[in-house]
Amino acid sequence: MNGQGNTEGIVIAIDGPSGSGKSSTSKGAAKARELRYLDTGAMYRAMTWWMLEHGVDVDDAEAVTALVERPEIVMGTDPEAPTVRVDGRDVATEIRSKDVTANVSAVSAVPAVRERMVRVQREIIAAARAESTGIVVEGRDITTVVAPEAPVKLFLTASAEARAQRRSKEIRDTDVAATQADLVRRDELDSSRAHSPLKQTADATELDTTGLTLDEVVALIVKLADEVRQR
Ligand code: C5P
Repeated sequence: MNGQGNTEGIVIAIDGPSGSGKSSTSKGAAKARELRYLDTGAMYRAMTWWMLEHGVDVDDAEAVTALVERPEIVMGTDPEAPTVRVDGRDVATEIRSKDVTANVSAVSAVPAVRERMVRVQREIIAAARAESTGIVVEGRDITTVVAPEAPVKLFLTASAEARAQRRSKEIRDTDVAATQADLVRRDELDSSRAHSPLKQTADATELDTTGLTLDEVVALIVKLADEVRQR
C-alpha cells in the first residue's frame, strides 16, 4: 500500500523557486528509492526553446497559443539519466541557454502552454504510477495544480544568496550578482502570474535548504516517502 488506497506507485510533489535545490534533491530521492523523476521546468524550457527556434515572439501570447500543440516534447524519466527531446532532437544543453532562461517565464505564463504541459505531466505520472514504484515530480505548480492529491508534498526554499550561489555553480557563471538578479526577476514573474503561480499550500511541508547539504535534504524526502509507503 502507499497511502493512496491502492497498489499504484507513490507521487512525491516538490515545488519551490529557482535554485532551491529541487532538481538535485528530487533526482537523489528518486535514485534512492528507485522512483521515476520528472523535471517539469525542462518541459517549459523545451517549449520556450522551440518557440525561439521558430522565430515566435514569446511576449505575444496569441502567437504562442496558436503554435502550442506543434512541438513534440518527450521526457525520459530515469533519474540516472533524464532526457528531454523536442521533435526527436536531444535539447538538454540548448534548454539551459541564457536565451531560454530569459524567456521561459513569459512562455510559461501563457494559459494554453500550461494546459498542454499539465495534461502531458499527468499522463507521465499516471504511467509511472502504473508501471513503477512511483515518481518524484518537481516544478512550480506540482503541489497546487498538477498533483495536489500527492501523499508527499514539499515546498523547498533557500535564501536568495544561497540559490544564486548554487545556480552559478551549476551554469558555471562567475557573476553571482547577475545570476541572483535573474533568479529574483524570474521568481517574481513565476509567483505573480495569473495562471497557476508558484505558491505554497498549507498542506505542503516547507523545507528551508539554505544550511543543508544535498544528502541531508534527500534523506528528509526519503524519510517522508517511507512513512507514507509504510502506512
Ligand atoms: O525549474 P526551472 O528553473 O528549470 O524552470 C524554468 C521555468 O519554467 C520557471 O522559471 C517557470 O517559469 C517555469 N515552470 C513553471 N511551472 C513548472 C515548472 C517550471 O511555470 N511546474
